[in-house]
Amino acid sequence: MNYPQILKEIYEEIQPYAKTGEPASYIPELLKVNPDRYGICLRTIEGKEFALGDSNERFAVQSISKVFSLAMSFGRVGNKLWKRIGVEPSGNAFNSIFQLEMEQGIPRNPLINAGALVMADVLLSALDYPEREYLSFVRKLCGNDMIQYNESMATSEREYGYLNAAITNMLKYHGNLENDIERVLRFYFRQCSIGMNCRELARAFLPFADHTRPFSFDGTELTTSQVKRINAIMQTCGFYDEAGEFSYLVGLPGKSGVGGGIAAVCPRKYSVAVWSPRLNPKGNSVMGMKALELLTTKTAVSIF
Ligand code: GLU
Repeated sequence: MNYPQILKEIYEEIQPYAKTGEPASYIPELLKVNPDRYGICLRTIEGKEFALGDSNERFAVQSISKVFSLAMSFGRVGNKLWKRIGVEPSGNAFNSIFQLEMEQGIPRNPLINAGALVMADVLLSALDYPEREYLSFVRKLCGNDMIQYNESMATSEREYGYLNAAITNMLKYHGNLENDIERVLRFYFRQCSIGMNCRELARAFLPFADHTRPFSFDGTELTTSQVKRINAIMQTCGFYDEAGEFSYLVGLPGKSGVGGGIAAVCPRKYSVAVWSPRLNPKGNSVMGMKALELLTTKTAVSIF
């Protein structure tokens, strides 16, 4: 497959969308980013890397971190996780609260905010040094010890995080949180604030694409079957209430974040990360979605 040529063609073909959409603006930190950035990196399971554009520039991974949380908490507590979180697509916004009320404090899936807040709680209980161990796991996954939490972003998220605070209170009310609400929120917002670039994200997602090697990073171990299930959850729940659309247009398991990043995997072939901060009304990167749609169309390879 001539990936360099394909990435180049994609870049040219997405140009008409360059000014479509707006970056997330709910906290000032996200507005500091130049909205016209675009980067992409594809990494094959043989370890070859192809990148284009602003693929070395770090951005907030935001909800992409929910996949790291899922790997860590599923690895630690196994199927017990499903007593506290479901695996059904939500069909609602990432921060929806009414479904949580209807379902008695059991989040629909791990990749919406309510699910990620429960996973933060699971990790706070299961780890000795949760925040340090979380960062260390992500560092090992992406092979770079320099990645960091963005403290000012995390603080700002808390300052404006009324809805996440409401979700956390609802979870606590229904007995689905063991730890203090503020600790859970603080840990969750720090996870969202981690800065990574497309190369690092592609690397971090490769183990989810590669079923030939055991998944073992910094004390998090997953069986092949668990990796398969994480892919299934990304496929059905990874794109807010646009998971169906992403499946239809792209056909890869993945996860997006409001920082404009999307990470996806083509099982047994490659991982890919794309970043462009302008979002569509559902909160997914406009150019990122288009780029991945073109990628699976041009290569004629997806999971379907
Ligand atoms: N920090 C954001 C929130 O919890 C993450 C949103 C996202 O990327 O989906 O509201």
